[in-house]
Amino acid sequence: AKTAGKNAVRFFDPAMQAILLVRMLLESNLRVALSQDQFQLYYQVQVNAAGGLLGAEALLRWFHPDRGFISPGEFIPVAEEAGLIIPIGRWVLETACAQLQQWQHDPLTADLTLAVNVSARQFRQSDFVEQVRSMIQQYAFPPDRLKIELTESTVLDDVDTTIRTMRDLRALGVGFSMDDFGTGYSSLAYLQKLPLTQLKIDQSFVRDLSEDENDATIVRAIISLGVNLGLDVIAEGVETDAQREFLMSHHCNAFQGYLFSRPLPLPEFEKLVRERRTA
Ligand code: C2E
Ligand code: CA
Ligand code: CA
Ligand code: CA
Repeated sequence: AKTAGKNAVRFFDPAMQAILLVRMLLESNLRVALSQDQFQLYYQVQVNAAGGLLGAEALLRWFHPDRGFISPGEFIPVAEEAGLIIPIGRWVLETACAQLQQWQHDPLTADLTLAVNVSARQFRQSDFVEQVRSMIQQYAFPPDRLKIELTESTVLDDVDTTIRTMRDLRALGVGFSMDDFGTGYSSLAYLQKLPLTQLKIDQSFVRDLSEDENDATIVRAIISLGVNLGLDVIAEGVETDAQREFLMSHHCNAFQGYLFSRPLPLPEFEKLVRERRTA
């Protein structure tokens, strides 16, 4: 009886209850966020070794009317657990495709690629390929402008299904980047089988590149792995010239990070493109 009492007390632990309530509140706020237009896409530029613009990664932003900005690190896990990532992810994808269509109208932006983060639950929907196919059709943009970023855990969750879905989408022309690469458990055997177009070196390895010999070794290994598999290699979280120089000297061919630009709202991103390309 004593033990049960103890457990009961623990169950009603006020701190725990507060966490649960905050989570429930966040979830119910998320449910109205889509219908009330509280989401926005921000765009973070990706550049090549010569400094030329390649495109952008679309990053989701949530502006709650009372709470203000809520970071994706906080709400994406809740959205994933509640299944809300499916309608939210669909909105992200559709907004990105509509943007790619817009960019087609101007020679200054027509070649830009746009990378979209797709979470496991979204990718696993049985009609995901159909969704992408119909968006490509509806928004009439060259399919190779769209890049889907998947994490290792998404891919490894069910490798055979993943490969099939990826192949179907590759056949449409869509590219695939393995996000946060190096933090998961993908083996060479899987990596060779996946129809990827790009490896994205996780920012945790880029951060201490100049000071940490282990990180430098890992980054060198990832780059040569990518090159050997015939993939583009992009580094994320590039903040300093020293990091960029190290990466460049080891033949990393694309970069993303605060050194080039923070993620920007659309008008500011387009302004940056215009300035850099008409200079
Ligand atoms: P991620 O996909 O790894 O995105 C990169 C994160 O690093 C972004 O954080 C970006 O703002 C940040 N970042 C970019 N450059 C630098 C830099 O130089 N230094 C540092 N310290 N950080 C940099 P953000 O926007 O807060 O997004 C966090 C995560 O939320 C993303 O990580 C991604 O996993 C998830 N996420 C964002 N948008 C979406 C989305 O539309 N769908 C899904 N499923 N997940 C998303
Ligand atoms: Ca990403
Ligand atoms: Ca990443
Ligand atoms: Ca990350």
